[in-house]
Amino acid sequence: MAILNIPEPVSIGLLLSYKCNISCRDCIYACSPKWKSDWINIEDVENIFNQLAPILNKAVPGYSKQISFSYGLHFTGGEPFLNFSLLLKLTYLAKEKNIPLPFVETNCFWATDDKKTKKMLIKLKKAGLSGILISVNPFNIEYIPFERIKRAAKISQNIFGPNSIIYQQFYFSLFKQIGLRGTISFKELLKKVDPKKLQGYIELLPMGNTLYKLDYLYERKPADFFFGESCHMELTRNWHLHIDNYCNYIPGFCAGISLGNARNLKKILAGMNLENFPILQALNINLGKLYEIGKANGYRESSKGYISKCHLCTDIRKHLVDKTDEFKELKPIGFYKNIGN
Ligand code: SF4
Ligand code: SF4
Repeated sequence: MAILNIPEPVSIGLLLSYKCNISCRDCIYACSPKWKSDWINIEDVENIFNQLAPILNKAVPGYSKQISFSYGLHFTGGEPFLNFSLLLKLTYLAKEKNIPLPFVETNCFWATDDKKTKKMLIKLKKAGLSGILISVNPFNIEYIPFERIKRAAKISQNIFGPNSIIYQQFYFSLFKQIGLRGTISFKELLKKVDPKKLQGYIELLPMGNTLYKLDYLYERKPADFFFGESCHMELTRNWHLHIDNYCNYIPGFCAGISLGNARNLKKILAGMNLENFPILQALNINLGKLYEIGKANGYRESSKGYISKCHLCTDIRKHLVDKTDEFKELKPIGFYKNIGN
């Protein structure tokens, strides 16, 4: 019997929902306004926090007060500020349950004026939020006016101090340098800024929406180029995993794959019998096995090729979800319906 041993997590991102006010070309989770407002259930979070608190607390180094993706918990999505009252309730709950160093990741769409921004951030801080991560990159700036990002950054700095993080600082400085007002499309940005200057700074993971919306930036390879590769490391990594609003326990950034139901974390951490999860079994060995499953279910290799192993993996999984509901590790279905749209 092949068992996949899942280690205890050191850091978790909790997706309040997949709903976002925008639809970034690089979104790993294919979030967008098209998703239903299926917000995470408070009772589920309470149960999950009860299980996570002792595990996550073991992983925090010393008496660290610094927020991090390497330990602790962050609220993410989708855009958590779309449901501010839920975000606030979950922040109180995190404090009550002794969840270490909770912070929120946001695109700042809500920072429309100083007074409102300050009020919201103070409420969160008082509820027990340790910090904030302000997203700024060439893809959310296509939708979010830079003034809102600057406002949120400035006020967050006053409220959360060093636990107000701008990610990525390079783009924040670049947009300031070019005197950006409002938004800018990726195409226009590449006209304004020498693309060579951006090389090495665009942190793109070749997965999620990037596979379908930014694929032109990459070289393509045939399917068999990726056949020898195993995803054992990605499936069993212990940091920056995600739990979504349907309680799927998602390995790292592998959106659309569930290692089980986080309501019963103990069961997941006891090890997974891979015989019940053919897709995980294939990924754990090599991508050639996944391709065989795809082929047996009518999948045909793309003549255009693939930009990464995740491209091949996602394309096959998307096909399988369309054909059958046999593979219970392929969740949520909404991911497959929304990716690339
Ligand atoms: S990357 Fe973030 S801001 Fe962009 S669509 Fe995804 S969740 Fe929304
Ligand atoms: S190939 Fe699939 S399982 Fe492997 S890292 Fe990429 S998305 Fe995850």
